[in-house]
Amino acid sequence: MTDTSLNQRYVRQLRLPFWDDSAQECIESSHVMIIGCGALGCPSADLLARAGVGKITLVDRDLVEYSNLHRQTLFSNVDALEQLPKAIAAKNRLSDVNPDINIQSLVADFNAYDAEQLVKHNDFGIPDVLVDGTDNFETRYLLNDISVMHNIPYVYGGAIGSRGMAAVFIPGKTPCLRCLFDSPPPAGSQPTCETSGVFSPVSSIIGAYQASETLKLLMNANDRVMGSMLEFDLWEGQRRRFELEDFRNPDCECCQHRNFAFLDRDDEETISICGRDAIQINPHSKSQVDMESLLKSLNVHGDFQQSPFMLKGTLYEQPVGITVFRDGRAIFDGIDDPSVARSLYARYIGN
Ligand SMILES: [Zn+2]
Repeated sequence: MTDTSLNQRYVRQLRLPFWDDSAQECIESSHVMIIGCGALGCPSADLLARAGVGKITLVDRDLVEYSNLHRQTLFSNVDALEQLPKAIAAKNRLSDVNPDINIQSLVADFNAYDAEQLVKHNDFGIPDVLVDGTDNFETRYLLNDISVMHNIPYVYGGAIGSRGMAAVFIPGKTPCLRCLFDSPPPAGSQPTCETSGVFSPVSSIIGAYQASETLKLLMNANDRVMGSMLEFDLWEGQRRRFELEDFRNPDCECCQHRNFAFLDRDDEETISICGRDAIQINPHSKSQVDMESLLKSLNVHGDFQQSPFMLKGTLYEQPVGITVFRDGRAIFDGIDDPSVARSLYARYIGN
Protein backbone atom coordinates (compact mmCIF):
# COMPACT_ATOMS: atom_id res chain seq x y z
CA MET A 1 0.00 0.00 0.00
CA THR A 2 1.09 3.58 -0.49
CA ASP A 3 1.36 5.79 2.61
CA THR A 4 -1.40 8.06 1.34
CA SER A 5 -3.83 5.24 0.77
CA LEU A 6 -2.96 3.69 4.15
CA ASN A 7 -3.69 6.93 5.94
CA GLN A 8 -6.65 8.18 4.01
CA ARG A 9 -8.42 5.58 1.91
CA TYR A 10 -10.53 3.90 4.60
CA VAL A 11 -10.76 6.78 7.10
CA ARG A 12 -14.46 7.49 6.66
CA GLN A 13 -15.61 3.90 6.97
CA LEU A 14 -13.37 3.42 10.01
CA ARG A 15 -15.32 6.24 11.70
CA LEU A 16 -18.44 4.08 11.67
CA PRO A 17 -19.25 2.71 15.13
CA PHE A 18 -19.31 -0.89 13.85
CA TRP A 19 -16.23 -0.72 11.63
CA ASP A 20 -12.94 -0.93 13.52
CA ASP A 21 -9.40 -1.94 12.58
CA SER A 22 -10.12 -5.59 13.09
CA ALA A 23 -13.18 -5.42 10.80
CA GLN A 24 -11.01 -3.73 8.19
CA GLU A 25 -8.37 -6.44 8.57
CA CYS A 26 -11.02 -9.12 8.08
CA ILE A 27 -12.14 -7.44 4.89
CA GLU A 28 -8.62 -7.02 3.60
CA SER A 29 -7.80 -10.69 4.15
CA SER A 30 -10.99 -11.93 2.44
CA HIS A 31 -11.76 -13.29 -1.00
CA VAL A 32 -15.05 -12.50 -2.75
CA MET A 33 -16.02 -14.13 -6.03
CA ILE A 34 -18.49 -12.16 -8.14
CA ILE A 35 -20.18 -14.29 -10.76
CA GLY A 36 -21.37 -12.03 -13.58
CA CYS A 37 -20.01 -8.53 -14.17
CA GLY A 38 -23.22 -6.97 -15.43
CA ALA A 39 -25.80 -4.66 -13.92
CA LEU A 40 -25.46 -6.22 -10.43
CA GLY A 41 -21.80 -7.27 -10.52
CA CYS A 42 -20.61 -3.77 -11.51
CA PRO A 43 -21.98 -1.83 -8.51
CA SER A 44 -21.23 -4.60 -6.00
CA ALA A 45 -17.64 -5.05 -7.26
CA ASP A 46 -17.13 -1.28 -7.25
CA LEU A 47 -18.21 -0.90 -3.60
CA LEU A 48 -16.32 -3.99 -2.41
CA ALA A 49 -13.12 -2.85 -4.14
CA ARG A 50 -13.44 0.63 -2.62
CA ALA A 51 -14.06 -0.85 0.84
CA GLY A 52 -10.77 -2.75 0.55
CA VAL A 53 -11.76 -6.40 0.00
CA GLY A 54 -8.30 -7.89 -0.41
CA LYS A 55 -9.01 -10.43 -3.14
CA ILE A 56 -11.79 -10.09 -5.69
CA THR A 57 -12.43 -12.61 -8.46
CA LEU A 58 -14.55 -11.46 -11.39
CA VAL A 59 -16.13 -14.17 -13.53
CA ASP A 60 -17.89 -13.25 -16.77
CA ARG A 61 -18.12 -14.80 -20.22
CA ASP A 62 -19.40 -11.80 -22.20
CA LEU A 63 -18.00 -8.78 -24.02
CA VAL A 64 -18.96 -5.17 -23.26
CA GLU A 65 -21.72 -3.92 -25.59
CA TYR A 66 -23.23 -0.46 -26.02
CA SER A 67 -26.57 -1.74 -24.72
CA ASN A 68 -24.86 -2.48 -21.37
CA LEU A 69 -23.70 1.05 -20.72
CA HIS A 70 -26.90 2.56 -19.29
CA ARG A 71 -26.67 0.35 -16.20
CA GLN A 72 -23.30 -1.46 -16.05
CA THR A 73 -21.43 1.22 -14.21
CA LEU A 74 -17.84 0.01 -14.52
CA PHE A 75 -17.73 0.22 -18.33
CA SER A 76 -16.94 3.04 -20.72
CA ASN A 77 -17.75 3.82 -24.31
CA VAL A 78 -14.23 2.73 -25.26
CA ASP A 79 -14.73 -0.67 -23.59
CA ALA A 80 -17.79 -1.21 -25.82
CA LEU A 81 -16.01 0.09 -28.90
CA GLU A 82 -13.13 -2.33 -28.30
CA GLN A 83 -15.54 -5.11 -27.23
CA LEU A 84 -13.39 -5.94 -24.22
CA PRO A 85 -14.38 -8.96 -22.12
CA LYS A 86 -16.38 -7.61 -19.17
CA ALA A 87 -14.16 -9.35 -16.59
CA ILE A 88 -11.11 -7.61 -18.08
CA ALA A 89 -12.72 -4.16 -18.46
CA ALA A 90 -14.05 -4.36 -14.89
CA LYS A 91 -10.62 -5.35 -13.54
CA ASN A 92 -9.01 -2.43 -15.41
CA ARG A 93 -11.45 0.02 -13.87
CA LEU A 94 -11.26 -1.43 -10.34
CA SER A 95 -7.46 -1.51 -10.40
CA ASP A 96 -7.55 2.23 -11.06
CA VAL A 97 -10.05 2.73 -8.25
CA ASN A 98 -8.06 0.76 -5.66
CA PRO A 99 -4.52 -0.38 -6.57
CA ASP A 100 -4.01 -1.74 -3.04
CA ILE A 101 -6.16 -4.83 -3.57
CA ASN A 102 -5.76 -7.96 -5.72
CA ILE A 103 -8.18 -8.65 -8.54
CA GLN A 104 -8.30 -11.60 -10.91
CA SER A 105 -10.55 -11.77 -13.94
CA LEU A 106 -11.76 -15.10 -15.27
CA VAL A 107 -13.18 -14.77 -18.79
CA ALA A 108 -15.19 -17.93 -18.49
CA ASP A 109 -18.65 -19.43 -18.49
CA PHE A 110 -19.89 -20.41 -15.03
CA ASN A 111 -21.60 -23.67 -15.98
CA ALA A 112 -22.06 -27.11 -14.45
CA TYR A 113 -18.82 -28.34 -15.96
CA ASP A 114 -16.56 -25.48 -15.01
CA ALA A 115 -18.13 -23.93 -11.89
CA GLU A 116 -16.36 -26.10 -9.31
CA GLN A 117 -13.04 -25.75 -11.07
CA LEU A 118 -13.44 -21.94 -11.09
CA VAL A 119 -14.40 -21.86 -7.41
CA LYS A 120 -11.76 -24.31 -6.16
CA HIS A 121 -8.81 -23.82 -8.46
CA ASN A 122 -8.26 -20.12 -8.97
CA ASP A 123 -5.26 -18.05 -7.85
CA PHE A 124 -6.97 -16.84 -4.66
CA GLY A 125 -8.37 -20.18 -3.43
CA ILE A 126 -11.91 -20.95 -2.31
CA PRO A 127 -13.85 -17.70 -1.85
CA ASP A 128 -15.35 -16.56 1.46
CA VAL A 129 -18.51 -15.26 -0.24
CA LEU A 130 -20.21 -15.84 -3.60
CA VAL A 131 -21.95 -12.78 -5.05
CA ASP A 132 -24.65 -13.40 -7.64
CA GLY A 133 -24.35 -11.05 -10.61
CA THR A 134 -25.97 -13.48 -13.04
CA ASP A 135 -28.97 -12.93 -15.26
CA ASN A 136 -30.44 -16.42 -15.37
CA PHE A 137 -31.97 -18.96 -13.02
CA GLU A 138 -29.91 -21.96 -14.14
CA THR A 139 -26.72 -20.29 -12.93
CA ARG A 140 -28.38 -19.23 -9.67
CA TYR A 141 -29.32 -22.84 -8.88
CA LEU A 142 -25.80 -23.89 -9.74
CA LEU A 143 -24.49 -21.23 -7.35
CA ASN A 144 -26.84 -22.52 -4.68
CA ASP A 145 -25.48 -26.07 -5.13
CA ILE A 146 -21.89 -24.82 -4.84
CA SER A 147 -22.75 -22.67 -1.84
CA VAL A 148 -24.25 -25.59 0.08
CA MET A 149 -21.68 -28.15 -1.06
CA HIS A 150 -18.68 -26.00 -0.07
CA ASN A 151 -20.29 -24.12 2.82
CA ILE A 152 -19.88 -20.67 1.25
CA PRO A 153 -22.49 -17.92 1.85
CA TYR A 154 -24.40 -17.01 -1.31
CA VAL A 155 -25.54 -13.40 -1.78
CA TYR A 156 -28.44 -13.58 -4.22
CA GLY A 157 -29.69 -10.68 -6.34
CA GLY A 158 -31.95 -10.02 -9.31
CA ALA A 159 -33.18 -6.96 -11.23
CA ILE A 160 -35.71 -6.83 -14.03
CA GLY A 161 -37.90 -3.99 -15.27
CA SER A 162 -38.41 -1.80 -12.21
CA ARG A 163 -38.33 -4.76 -9.77
CA GLY A 164 -35.43 -5.91 -7.67
CA MET A 165 -34.84 -8.69 -5.18
CA ALA A 166 -32.03 -9.81 -2.91
CA ALA A 167 -31.32 -12.31 -0.15
CA VAL A 168 -28.43 -13.96 1.67
CA PHE A 169 -28.28 -17.73 1.95
CA ILE A 170 -25.87 -18.98 4.62
CA PRO A 171 -25.34 -22.77 4.60
CA GLY A 172 -26.11 -24.34 7.96
CA LYS A 173 -27.90 -21.21 9.14
CA THR A 174 -30.59 -20.07 6.71
CA PRO A 175 -32.74 -22.04 4.27
CA CYS A 176 -31.23 -22.26 0.76
CA LEU A 177 -32.59 -21.04 -2.58
CA ARG A 178 -34.14 -24.45 -3.27
CA CYS A 179 -35.99 -24.37 0.04
CA LEU A 180 -37.79 -21.30 -1.37
CA PHE A 181 -38.24 -22.49 -4.94
CA ASP A 182 -37.47 -26.14 -5.60
CA SER A 183 -36.74 -25.66 -9.29
CA PRO A 184 -36.11 -22.78 -11.69
CA PRO A 185 -39.08 -21.40 -13.64
CA PRO A 186 -39.56 -23.03 -17.06
CA ALA A 187 -37.49 -21.53 -19.88
CA GLY A 188 -39.25 -18.60 -21.51
CA SER A 189 -41.74 -18.17 -18.65
CA GLN A 190 -39.97 -15.24 -17.03
CA PRO A 191 -39.24 -11.77 -18.38
CA THR A 192 -35.63 -11.09 -19.28
CA CYS A 193 -33.65 -7.88 -19.47
CA GLU A 194 -34.20 -8.03 -23.24
CA THR A 195 -37.97 -8.37 -23.11
CA SER A 196 -38.69 -6.09 -20.14
CA GLY A 197 -35.72 -3.75 -20.01
CA VAL A 198 -34.11 -2.63 -16.77
CA PHE A 199 -34.71 0.57 -14.83
CA SER A 200 -31.05 1.22 -14.07
CA PRO A 201 -31.40 2.51 -10.47
CA VAL A 202 -32.89 -0.88 -9.52
CA SER A 203 -29.74 -2.81 -10.38
CA SER A 204 -27.53 -0.28 -8.63
CA ILE A 205 -29.64 -0.54 -5.46
CA ILE A 206 -29.54 -4.35 -5.52
CA GLY A 207 -25.79 -4.36 -6.23
CA ALA A 208 -25.24 -1.98 -3.31
CA TYR A 209 -27.42 -4.14 -1.08
CA GLN A 210 -25.40 -7.21 -2.05
CA ALA A 211 -22.18 -5.32 -1.23
CA SER A 212 -23.61 -4.32 2.14
CA GLU A 213 -24.51 -7.90 3.11
CA THR A 214 -21.18 -9.21 1.79
CA LEU A 215 -19.24 -6.73 3.95
CA LYS A 216 -21.23 -7.83 7.03
CA LEU A 217 -20.36 -11.47 6.28
CA LEU A 218 -16.67 -10.62 5.85
CA MET A 219 -16.62 -8.71 9.16
CA ASN A 220 -18.18 -11.74 10.87
CA ALA A 221 -21.24 -9.63 11.72
CA ASN A 222 -23.57 -12.47 10.73
CA ASP A 223 -26.15 -11.34 13.29
CA ARG A 224 -26.60 -8.19 11.16
CA VAL A 225 -27.11 -10.02 7.87
CA MET A 226 -30.69 -9.69 6.66
CA GLY A 227 -32.61 -12.90 7.27
CA SER A 228 -35.26 -11.97 4.75
CA MET A 229 -35.78 -11.81 1.00
CA LEU A 230 -36.12 -8.18 -0.03
CA GLU A 231 -38.35 -7.42 -2.99
CA PHE A 232 -39.31 -3.99 -4.31
CA ASP A 233 -40.75 -2.20 -7.31
CA LEU A 234 -38.99 1.11 -7.60
CA TRP A 235 -41.43 2.56 -10.10
CA GLU A 236 -44.56 1.61 -8.17
CA GLY A 237 -42.97 2.43 -4.81
CA GLN A 238 -43.79 -0.99 -3.37
CA ARG A 239 -41.61 -2.95 -0.99
CA ARG A 240 -41.99 -6.38 0.62
CA ARG A 241 -39.93 -8.65 2.83
CA PHE A 242 -40.26 -12.39 3.30
CA GLU A 243 -38.60 -14.08 6.25
CA LEU A 244 -36.38 -16.84 4.82
CA GLU A 245 -37.02 -18.96 7.91
CA ASP A 246 -40.70 -19.26 6.94
CA PHE A 247 -39.61 -21.14 3.82
CA ARG A 248 -37.29 -23.70 5.41
CA ASN A 249 -37.95 -27.06 3.78
CA PRO A 250 -36.98 -30.03 6.00
CA ASP A 251 -37.09 -32.18 2.87
CA CYS A 252 -35.04 -29.85 0.63
CA GLU A 253 -33.18 -31.81 -2.05
CA CYS A 254 -30.18 -29.50 -1.84
CA CYS A 255 -29.48 -28.44 1.74
CA GLN A 256 -31.07 -31.48 3.46
CA HIS A 257 -30.48 -34.39 1.08
CA ARG A 258 -27.33 -32.87 -0.47
CA ASN A 259 -28.49 -33.73 -3.95
CA PHE A 260 -26.59 -31.27 -6.13
CA ALA A 261 -28.65 -31.76 -9.25
CA PHE A 262 -27.61 -28.55 -11.00
CA LEU A 263 -23.92 -29.22 -10.50
CA ASP A 264 -24.27 -32.77 -11.78
CA ARG A 265 -25.83 -31.74 -15.06
CA ASP A 266 -24.13 -32.76 -18.22
CA ASP A 267 -26.05 -30.88 -20.89
CA GLU A 268 -24.63 -27.41 -20.94
CA GLU A 269 -22.23 -27.66 -23.82
CA THR A 270 -24.38 -25.48 -26.02
CA ILE A 271 -26.43 -22.53 -24.88
CA SER A 272 -28.29 -19.69 -26.47
CA ILE A 273 -27.24 -16.27 -25.31
CA CYS A 274 -29.97 -14.14 -23.80
CA GLY A 275 -31.20 -11.40 -26.09
CA ARG A 276 -28.75 -12.08 -28.85
CA ASP A 277 -29.09 -14.04 -32.03
CA ALA A 278 -26.13 -16.07 -30.86
CA ILE A 279 -25.11 -19.54 -29.68
CA GLN A 280 -22.25 -20.35 -27.37
CA ILE A 281 -20.33 -23.61 -27.57
CA ASN A 282 -18.40 -24.49 -24.45
CA PRO A 283 -16.44 -27.69 -25.07
CA HIS A 284 -16.24 -30.10 -22.15
CA SER A 285 -12.63 -31.00 -22.75
CA LYS A 286 -10.68 -27.89 -21.86
CA SER A 287 -7.39 -27.12 -23.53
CA GLN A 288 -5.70 -23.86 -24.39
CA VAL A 289 -6.24 -22.93 -28.02
CA ASP A 290 -3.19 -22.14 -30.15
CA MET A 291 -4.53 -18.72 -31.17
CA GLU A 292 -1.85 -18.00 -33.79
CA SER A 293 -2.41 -21.12 -35.80
CA LEU A 294 -6.21 -20.91 -35.45
CA LEU A 295 -6.06 -17.33 -36.73
CA LYS A 296 -4.17 -18.51 -39.82
CA SER A 297 -6.66 -21.24 -40.59
CA LEU A 298 -9.73 -19.06 -39.95
CA ASN A 299 -8.43 -16.30 -42.18
CA VAL A 300 -8.69 -18.69 -45.12
CA HIS A 301 -12.47 -18.66 -44.57
CA GLY A 302 -13.08 -15.11 -43.40
CA ASP A 303 -11.74 -11.89 -42.00
CA PHE A 304 -10.46 -12.53 -38.46
CA GLN A 305 -8.41 -10.58 -35.99
CA GLN A 306 -6.64 -11.48 -32.76
CA SER A 307 -6.73 -9.52 -29.52
CA PRO A 308 -4.99 -10.49 -26.27
CA PHE A 309 -8.15 -12.25 -25.13
CA MET A 310 -9.79 -13.74 -28.20
CA LEU A 311 -10.07 -14.19 -31.96
CA LYS A 312 -12.95 -12.47 -33.66
CA GLY A 313 -14.22 -12.15 -37.21
CA THR A 314 -16.84 -12.98 -39.82
CA LEU A 315 -17.00 -15.85 -42.32
CA TYR A 316 -17.00 -15.07 -46.06
CA GLU A 317 -19.54 -17.70 -47.07
CA GLN A 318 -22.27 -16.80 -44.57
CA PRO A 319 -22.97 -13.82 -42.32
CA VAL A 320 -21.85 -15.52 -39.12
CA GLY A 321 -19.59 -13.82 -36.60
CA ILE A 322 -17.28 -16.08 -34.61
CA THR A 323 -15.50 -15.23 -31.38
CA VAL A 324 -13.08 -17.82 -29.96
CA PHE A 325 -11.61 -17.57 -26.46
CA ARG A 326 -8.35 -19.13 -25.27
CA ASP A 327 -10.11 -21.91 -23.36
CA GLY A 328 -11.85 -23.13 -26.51
CA ARG A 329 -15.21 -21.49 -25.85
CA ALA A 330 -16.75 -19.92 -28.95
CA ILE A 331 -19.71 -17.64 -29.64
CA PHE A 332 -21.47 -17.77 -33.01
CA ASP A 333 -23.37 -14.57 -33.80
CA GLY A 334 -26.13 -14.48 -36.39
CA ILE A 335 -27.52 -17.99 -35.87
CA ASP A 336 -30.14 -19.38 -33.52
CA ASP A 337 -29.83 -23.12 -34.19
CA PRO A 338 -27.49 -24.94 -31.77
CA SER A 339 -26.89 -27.77 -34.25
CA VAL A 340 -25.62 -25.27 -36.85
CA ALA A 341 -23.30 -23.78 -34.22
CA ARG A 342 -22.02 -27.25 -33.30
CA SER A 343 -21.33 -28.05 -36.90
CA LEU A 344 -19.55 -24.73 -37.49
CA TYR A 345 -17.48 -25.36 -34.37
CA ALA A 346 -16.43 -28.77 -35.62
CA ARG A 347 -15.68 -27.42 -39.09
CA TYR A 348 -13.70 -24.31 -38.22
CA ILE A 349 -12.35 -24.80 -34.71
CA GLY A 350 -12.32 -28.56 -34.25
CA ASN A 351 -12.43 -30.51 -31.04
ZN1 LIG B 1 -32.64 -25.95 1.06
